[in-house]
Amino acid sequence: MTPQELKSLVRTIPDFPVKGIQFRDITTLIGNGPGFAATVDWLATRVKDSGAQAIAGMEARGFIFGAAVAAQSALPFLPVRKSGKLPCDTIGVDYALEYGSDRLEMDPTSVTAGQRVAMVDDLLATGGTACATAQLLRQAGAVVSHAFFVIDLPDLGGAVKLRECDVEVAALMEFD
Ligand code: IMP
Repeated sequence: MTPQELKSLVRTIPDFPVKGIQFRDITTLIGNGPGFAATVDWLATRVKDSGAQAIAGMEARGFIFGAAVAAQSALPFLPVRKSGKLPCDTIGVDYALEYGSDRLEMDPTSVTAGQRVAMVDDLLATGGTACATAQLLRQAGAVVSHAFFVIDLPDLGGAVKLRECDVEVAALMEFD
């Protein structure tokens, strides 16, 4: 499947979650078997080339793609969770979202010192989520140099922000 065909599988919902936002919805992409498989293949190829030793996925849609890529690549998957979800001792970081603010947490013992961890998420907007995740993973001892997304919204500047956090970015498709 071509990147253009995969892009056509993403649904756009106007005025969600607030008026004026064009929400890019991957539900329709993962609801298409060949489309989901081709997307995971694309991400897994980039992860392999990056030399990553583990994949971190951000709750919630980063779990869908990150876990699939990790399983296909036989790499460990590290769930980076919303506040209060993990039963163990955690480290956390507060961050600004495109709409609102939130907190991410992880189990610091899930990373070994110097382990190369790549981040995978569905969508890059302002880069706040991914930058905060990189900060959290680094606090746990990981080396974080790559992030892979299904969708980039380049007008929101996420790739520029991530490069400022010393993270290289690649995305399968872009939307204006
Ligand atoms: P950022 O932190 O501003 O880069 O926003 C990215 C995060 O917000 C990701 O975890 C996305 O899942 C979510 N997000 C922001 N905008 C959209 C959208 O249009 N569609 C789906 N998810 C979005």
